[in-house]
Amino acid sequence: MNKKMLAAYLPGNSTVELKEVDIPAPGYGEVLIKTKSSTICGSDIRAIYREHLGKGPEAYQNKICGHEPCGQIVQCGPGLRRFKEGDRVIVYHISGCGVCNDCRRGYMISCSNTKYRRAYGWQRDGGMAEYMLAEEKDLVALPDSLTYTDGAQVACGFGTTYEGLEKIGISGDDAVLVVGLGPVGLASCMLAKALGAEKIIAFDTVQSRVDLALSKGLADYAFVSGADSLDKVHELTGGFGCERAVDCSGNTYGRQLAVRGTREWGKCVFIGEGGTVELNPSPDMLHPQKTIYGSWVTSIWRMEVLVEHLVRWGIHPEDLVTNRFQLKDATQAYKLMSEGKCGKVAIVYDEEIK
Ligand SMILES: [Zn+2]
Ligand SMILES: [Zn+2]
Repeated sequence: MNKKMLAAYLPGNSTVELKEVDIPAPGYGEVLIKTKSSTICGSDIRAIYREHLGKGPEAYQNKICGHEPCGQIVQCGPGLRRFKEGDRVIVYHISGCGVCNDCRRGYMISCSNTKYRRAYGWQRDGGMAEYMLAEEKDLVALPDSLTYTDGAQVACGFGTTYEGLEKIGISGDDAVLVVGLGPVGLASCMLAKALGAEKIIAFDTVQSRVDLALSKGLADYAFVSGADSLDKVHELTGGFGCERAVDCSGNTYGRQLAVRGTREWGKCVFIGEGGTVELNPSPDMLHPQKTIYGSWVTSIWRMEVLVEHLVRWGIHPEDLVTNRFQLKDATQAYKLMSEGKCGKVAIVYDEEIK
């Protein structure tokens, strides 16, 4: 095996820096993973790529970027309890202390120990390199019938989406409103359909994203949002609105549409990050008896449940990947994702180069 590998860093100013670095060796409880697929997240663009905005859990510490990695274990450190060389694995993208209350619930995203909570691609080296180190406790087994790019999609985006949808509960009773058709919005459509949603109505401000949702059969109705968006929701639901709504826009108007498009007694979840929202609580929430949930990432056990269900449903998150790049072309990959005229963008290796 080579001793050096190519790795990507995000110095800010919308640039990608590629460096040759040493291939790390796994320590106690750690594995070395040969990266096979590593997708770019909206959070990477928002908080790191354009400029380093993040604080606390989103503070980028000039590590190898990429927090949606999936690959194969090629070397094991001592002390492993479950995984072995050759295993195909997804990395849950935050490593926590393992013993605080949040970690014990499986939500390492919320680990309260500032010394041990380190996210891959933010405070410790992530997946935009040929190899990466991960702790065994952060691994989710990738079933044989899922591809590495399916797995990369689960590591952050699909896990986050599934958590949000499970919080509001989706069934065949429900028309589902999805606002924002970036990768998480598209994933919301795909998973809501798998969960049995009767009808999916979606909005985005970008025509190409609306076209993508329709051409891939993810939404029953999708529109470019405008002044008549709420009327359209009502027209398609007998004047009532949707039983369930998901905001993936992170925008005040998008969130207003999600809440106001929710039917009386319905449930709405906010997944889209950033921005703000202005609501009129009495007419928007209190009088129509609506519940609004907030949701951030997921737990590692729910990620395991999700991959099991993806196999049973026979769906492939990689279908939302519209562009694949090799690591040497990471500059173009991040630029495309930043411009937003695409679905999901993946950096791929070996058999995932298609
Ligand atoms: Zn992410
Ligand atoms: Zn913890």
